[in-house]
Amino acid sequence: MIRRPKRLTWRRMKFGIGAGLVLATLLIVWLTGLASLRITLAESETRANANLAVQTAVLERLLDKFRLLSPLLARSPDIASFYFKERADAEPGIAAIAAGMSGAEEIWLMDATGKVVVSSQDSVPANAIGGSGRIPHAFTQASQGQLGRELIPGTPDTPSNYVFASPLRTEETFLGVLAVRVSLDDVEQAWALSKDPILALDGNDRVVVSNVPDFRGMRAGELDPGWNVVDLSLTGRMQLLLPSAGAGNAHMQLTSDLPVLGWQVRTLVDIGDARRQSGWAMLVALLVCVIAAGGIWFLIARREEFMREERRNRAAALRLERRVQSRTAELRRANAHLEREVGERQQAEENLRQTQAELVQAAKLATLGRMSAALSHEYNQPLAAIRSDAEIAEMLIDRGRADEAKGNLTRIGGMVKRMAEIAKTLKGFTRKSGTDIKPVSLRQVIDEAMLLLQPQIKQSGFVLSVDLPDEDIIVAGGRIRLEQVVINLLSNALDAVQASPAPLISLSLKREGDEAVLEVADNGTGIDEEALPQIFDPFFTTKDVGAGLGLGLSIAYKIVHDFSGSLKAANRDGGGAVFTMRLPAADETVLAAE
Ligand code: ADP
Repeated sequence: MIRRPKRLTWRRMKFGIGAGLVLATLLIVWLTGLASLRITLAESETRANANLAVQTAVLERLLDKFRLLSPLLARSPDIASFYFKERADAEPGIAAIAAGMSGAEEIWLMDATGKVVVSSQDSVPANAIGGSGRIPHAFTQASQGQLGRELIPGTPDTPSNYVFASPLRTEETFLGVLAVRVSLDDVEQAWALSKDPILALDGNDRVVVSNVPDFRGMRAGELDPGWNVVDLSLTGRMQLLLPSAGAGNAHMQLTSDLPVLGWQVRTLVDIGDARRQSGWAMLVALLVCVIAAGGIWFLIARREEFMREERRNRAAALRLERRVQSRTAELRRANAHLEREVGERQQAEENLRQTQAELVQAAKLATLGRMSAALSHEYNQPLAAIRSDAEIAEMLIDRGRADEAKGNLTRIGGMVKRMAEIAKTLKGFTRKSGTDIKPVSLRQVIDEAMLLLQPQIKQSGFVLSVDLPDEDIIVAGGRIRLEQVVINLLSNALDAVQASPAPLISLSLKREGDEAVLEVADNGTGIDEEALPQIFDPFFTTKDVGAGLGLGLSIAYKIVHDFSGSLKAANRDGGGAVFTMRLPAADETVLAAE
């Protein structure tokens, strides 16, 4: 919602820039056209001005030359006397000679009435101009003693003529008029070299001289009525003549005055070329502008693309940041959850530890109870027997039957011995671990244990299979204590197979890697699943009162652990129990060194 107006503004700005570029292009193209037209027009004007000056000078020079000729000839005394005093018609060719020498078209003399006396064109009367009737103005001026001037206008077929007339007089007498006629054809021929039309207008705006013969005799307004005249200079010396209906070319008209004659000389310069050039210049300017505008537009588009890209990047960064934030929040939540869980676990562990401690305490108390019961039974029974035997012995001795009392005393001694053995067993249980460890041959241990149990085995008549390895296995430990373990395992097995129909006990020793493994298996009653976890507990026994103290396995367990080994009990699949003792095997050479 916030960006939308921004984008709209940008779009509007783009439109504005586009419009501005188009306007600027149009302006530049127009200005270029105008400037180019100005420059080319200025060049054409300079050239045309120069041309106009030259051509005007040609006309002026011609007229100047003949302006002087008529007074000169008129003042010559020869001429006056020749024509008016002697009236000699003998040399009529003199006028022709003078005319021929000066280049004048005709030189002729008139008497005071205006009648032609003699003419250089006498031989071709058709070319003669005639008397004062043809040049009344000039004749009048000459008869008044001035230099007479008269234009004889031309037609499209005949060029104009200009006549200068001077009076002929002797002292006070006015004799007649000498006239010199100049054809302006020479000027037109000089002007014909110029490609631009040149024309001279007299005071009545009539074309008198022109390098375009058709213009002769026309009025200025008749030249081309379709032109629109545009004044471009303050003096009005330069005008543009533009064709109104698209017909013909535009022209530039330059004007120069001939003040003496009251004439005006004009030249018309075709400016179609200038316009074409300015058109080309405009085209080139347009191309340049289009390319420049295209470049600017491309840059603007690139900038917009760049800005759009930047906006996209910013948005992506923002999205990423938000994601990171949300992830961080999630992580923080998860962390808090974990912390809570850890706290709960710690609490649970604490509870567990406490419960365990309580259990241990309970187990200790239970063990103490079991021990007290067992010990009180073990000791109370012989103590009661000793007491009764002692009383009987005392009584017999009192009656003088000391021999009979001897039997009682012997029984007392036996029972004391038994109590001492129980005490010895208890002492063994409390023996400190880790002392007296030496390399021990397990084979030797087994042999000696078998030897010690021999009487019981023989008495029971049970089969005992013994499987020993060829090579002896040496372990680090105490020989007597290991014998005690083996004896305990074998005697428990003997107890277990008492009721079996085919009692069988097997003992095997083997090496597994770095371990010595001793197994004692039987096919007896097996161990109750419930009792299995407890059988290594001190004073745990299933045997009848007086038959077992429940210390054998717990002592064996402690001994094996003292020698860094393990003792495990399990039931066999086919019935009966199996006890496995594992001890780390020692180097054999150690025993040899002993
Ligand atoms: P005691 O032999 O004095 O009972 P022990 O610690 O040697 O004490 O044995 C504990 C108990 O383990 C025995 O009471 C008996 O229930 C059980 N037990 C030990 N050896 C065997 C065996 N080979 N077969 C079945 N039960 C056994």
